[in-house]
Amino acid sequence: MNWQGKRVTVAGLGVSGIPAARVLRGLGAEVTVVNDGDDERSRTQAAELEKLGVTVRLGDGDTLPAGTELIVTAPGWRPDKPLFTAAAAAGVEIWGDVELAWRLRGPDAAPWLAVTGTNGKTTTVRMLASILTAAGLRTAAVGNIGVSLLDAVAGEETYDVLAVELSSYQLHWAPSVRAHSAAVLNLAPDHLDWHGSMEAYAADKGRVYEGNRIACVYNAADPATEDLVRAADVEEGCRAIGFTLGTPGPSQLGVVDGILVDRAFVENRRDQAQELAHVTDVDPPAPHNIANALAAAALARAFGVAPTAVRDGLRAFRPDPHRIERVPAAGDVTYIDDSKATNTHAAEASLAAYDPIVWIAGGLAKGATFDDLVSGAAKRLRAVVLIGADRALIREALARHAPEVPVVDLDRTDTGAMSAAVREAARLAQPGDTVLLAPACASMDMFTNYNKRGEAFADAVRALAAEHA
Ligand code: ADP
Repeated sequence: MNWQGKRVTVAGLGVSGIPAARVLRGLGAEVTVVNDGDDERSRTQAAELEKLGVTVRLGDGDTLPAGTELIVTAPGWRPDKPLFTAAAAAGVEIWGDVELAWRLRGPDAAPWLAVTGTNGKTTTVRMLASILTAAGLRTAAVGNIGVSLLDAVAGEETYDVLAVELSSYQLHWAPSVRAHSAAVLNLAPDHLDWHGSMEAYAADKGRVYEGNRIACVYNAADPATEDLVRAADVEEGCRAIGFTLGTPGPSQLGVVDGILVDRAFVENRRDQAQELAHVTDVDPPAPHNIANALAAAALARAFGVAPTAVRDGLRAFRPDPHRIERVPAAGDVTYIDDSKATNTHAAEASLAAYDPIVWIAGGLAKGATFDDLVSGAAKRLRAVVLIGADRALIREALARHAPEVPVVDLDRTDTGAMSAAVREAARLAQPGDTVLLAPACASMDMFTNYNKRGEAFADAVRALAAEHA
C-alpha cells in the first residue's frame, strides 16, 4: 500500500495509538490523532507527536476530521461511538492496531500463533513463547504484554514465529488477520456492554479462527469454542484440535495418569499418544492452568515443535505476578494472590484449586452476578471476608447458596481495607487452609489497578508474618 500523503485518523492516544501514529507518519501518511481526554499527560504525549508532524486534537474524539481516508482505532473504543457512525456514513474504513500490524507486514513477516478467550490469554501466550524459545525459534509474546504487536511486526527485530494475544476488542477491529493456527481458551460473559450481546462477543472471539491454515484449537469442555471452529471459514486441510483435562480422543491433547499427552500430532503413526510433560512441570499445576498448558502445547505442536521442547518450555515458564501467586509466609496457612481474577469466571478457576479456603472478595462487579460462582465454591469455603463497592452482591449470593459459611463484611472501600481483610482472614483460617484473594471484581473502586491490589495483599501478608516472627 502507498501511504505517502494518505490521510489517516488515529483514534486515541495511548499504548496503541502513539506507536500507530508514529509508524504511519514514518511511512509518509498525513496523520491526525483525535482523543477524548485533554489532560496533562495527553498534552505531553501530543507535544512529542507534533514534533514528528502529527496533528493532535485533544478533548474531541468524536468529530471526524475532514478528508479522512482511513481510521486506525485504539481497541477499547466502542463501535457505537459517534466517530465511527460518522466514518461509516462517509464510507471510511476502520482498522484496529492489530489490523494495521497485519496489513503492514503480517503475511510476509513471521506466522502468528494466536490466542484468545475470556481468561488465561496472557498466561497461555507466555507459556507458548517459552515453548517456542525452548525449540530454538526466534519468537516473542506479543499483545497486551511484552512487545507491542506493531513493534514486533514493523520493528528491526526479525522472528520465526509470534505468540499473539488477541482480545475480543482487537479481533472486532481486525477483519483480515489470518493466523497460522489459533486457540479460543474459553468463553464466558465479559465486556458485554461493549460488544452489545453474548452472541456478538462470541462472534468477535471466533474471528481468530478465520483463515487458519493448520489448526483451530478449541476447549473440549467448552462446546461454544468448538461451535466457533465449525462456523469459521478456514484453509483447506486445517484441522480442529481439542484440549481436555481428561483422556484425549483422536485429534485431541489431554491428560492421562498425570501426564500431558498429544493424540493429535503423533510422530509415529503407530503410536496412540505422544507424551509431552508431567502436570507438575506446569506452575501452578491447577486445573485451569493445565488447560492453558495444553492449549499452548497444541499451538506449538501445530507449528511442528518437538515434544521435548514442549516439556522444557513448560518447565521454564513462571507465572506473572498476581495470577494465583503464592505469597511466602511462615506457619501452616497458605496465602495466594489472584488479584488478576477480575471477573467471576477467573475467580472460579482459583476457587476450584484450593480447599478449604478463606476467601477475600469484592470490588467493582461490572454487572456480574455471583450465584453460580458462590454455589460452585460453597463446599470449599471456610469463611469469606468482603471488601469493595459491590460486596453486597456477593454477600447476598452467599446468603442464598452458602448460608452456613461465616461472612465478615468489612464495609470498607479505602485502600487500608486490604490489610484489615488479611488480618480477619488470618484469624478465621485454620492450619492447612488457604487464604485466597480472588476478588471476582475489578479493582478500580479501591486501587489504581489489579497490580496495586495484589501488592497491598502481599504487603499485608508480609506485615502480619513480621509481627508473628
Ligand atoms: P487474561 O490475559 O485472559 O486476562 P491471564 O492469563 O492474565 O488471562 O489470567 C487472568 C486470571 O484468569 C488468572 O488470575 C486466573 O484467575 C484466571 N485464569 C487463568 N487461566 C484461566 C482459564 N484457563 N480458565 C479460567 N480462568 C483462568
